[in-house]
Amino acid sequence: MRRILWFRRDLRIEDNPLLSYEGEVLPLFIFDTNILDSLDAEDKRVSYIFKAVLELKEKLRTLGLDLKLFYGDPLDVIDHLLQEYAFDEVVASGDYDSYAKERDKAISHKLHFRYIQDTYILKPSDVLKEDGSPYLVFTPFYKKARLALESKDLSPYGLAKQGLLASSYETMSTIQKDAAVSQREITLENLGFRPQEILLDDPRKRLSDFLKKIELYAQKRDYLQEDAGSSLSVALRFGRIGIREVLRAALLHPKSEAFVRQLLFRDFYALMLFYFPQIQTQNYKYAFNGIEDREKFERFCRAQTGVPIVDAAIQELLSFGTMHNRARMVVASFFTKDLLLPWQWGEAFFAKHLLDYDAASNILSWQWSAGTGVDPQPYFRIFNPYLQSKKFDKEGVYIKRYLPQLQNIEAKYLHDESFLQATEIPNYPKPIVSHKEAAKQAIELFKQGM
Ligand SMILES: Cc1cc2nc3c(=O)[nH]c(=O)nc-3n(C[C@H](O)[C@H](O)[C@H](O)COP(=O)(O)OP(=O)(O)OC[C@H]3O[C@@H](n4cnc5c(N)ncnc54)[C@H](O)[C@@H]3O)c2cc1C
Repeated sequence: MRRILWFRRDLRIEDNPLLSYEGEVLPLFIFDTNILDSLDAEDKRVSYIFKAVLELKEKLRTLGLDLKLFYGDPLDVIDHLLQEYAFDEVVASGDYDSYAKERDKAISHKLHFRYIQDTYILKPSDVLKEDGSPYLVFTPFYKKARLALESKDLSPYGLAKQGLLASSYETMSTIQKDAAVSQREITLENLGFRPQEILLDDPRKRLSDFLKKIELYAQKRDYLQEDAGSSLSVALRFGRIGIREVLRAALLHPKSEAFVRQLLFRDFYALMLFYFPQIQTQNYKYAFNGIEDREKFERFCRAQTGVPIVDAAIQELLSFGTMHNRARMVVASFFTKDLLLPWQWGEAFFAKHLLDYDAASNILSWQWSAGTGVDPQPYFRIFNPYLQSKKFDKEGVYIKRYLPQLQNIEAKYLHDESFLQATEIPNYPKPIVSHKEAAKQAIELFKQGM
């Protein structure tokens, strides 16, 4: 058998099903122009992927394999490869967003496409309701999925004997119509990106550090100044560590259930996107879809809303490409219910900046916050950002870390809307909306549009 091993969201050699097929192989990574062309030159994620791909290339060398890098449209790359060899199949792990599904379908018309299960724990058909339909509510899904895990084989994939297909490709190749471009070596600069300062951490060390404190996860994970989460989302996004490896380690620990639950949340959201692809852009329920207001949106994007917890979270995102989970919930609620902006704009803003951006988790979470999603989250459940920050950042440690201009403000005032509305603070604006009035208006608009 001659196989193309297409690495995508599985940039590792440990426990990787791609490496478990015997035979002649061509390991491949494609810098996909359909995705890259729409990104900013300073995109942090591209720097991360680039480093991760080079790391994988090094590791594959230790197995006698060489990762070929291409820059172009995957359909053109596959055509190009098929001109050289009669490949029997391409092997890759499944991805559920609509672009990925269309792309893979088109490629499957050219060459047998073997989908492997790697990015998520469960296959879409593994956990369904009695009538064969997908669960729309997380808790019953979780209960059934948890039972299914008991009998699921989570053992790691071994390394099969694989021989590298002798290929005429240079280490790096571009598939570009423009001959001048195809001559160039693949570097970040040649792809049109400015390298960003990104540190590739060791996800296995992160996991083992996290396991030492996992029993405190449930109690502390919502507190913004605590470092209680695993911080594995970016490595999981690109498969530098596999979900099975994380799950296996967690399941060995007696106090890991809250964490296992979150890992299954990731699966649940992926399955929702798989079964309801239209929710990528459309409300699942309710007609009201926000009011387009460019000025409010600009202020939000520049961390200038005047609501400290929201601006601190945006500043964290802009500076590091990360945001605490509780802060994401507060920000998304503020965006959709206080600023009344379309959730799709917020989703796109997160997509642009989050290092761990995952279409399913991001879209479903934004729809959850807007109250328009698949789950039964009602539109009238609205977070009060001031009460949230009072509860989860009482001393204002998180806020002051990202908004140094608030350093001298007493913590209690950071959660006090009346104070913030009445006080001139140097280099910091007054809140752009009144929470109470905005929330009332949101409920009215949702009711009218039902
Ligand atoms: C508006 C909004 C947008 C989000 N966008 C993304 C996104 O683009 N990519 C992303 O990976 N997560 C997203 N999340 C979920 C969550 O915020 C992050 O997964 C989490 O903050 C990552 O930190 P961690 O690795 O320390 O997570 P931990 O708390 O240690 O959880 C372990 C892993 O479980 C998964 N996970 C945890 N919580 C969730 C959740 N609520 N939904 C889905 N998966 C979860 C992640 O893979 C995470 O790495 C979003 C949440 C909200 C409210």
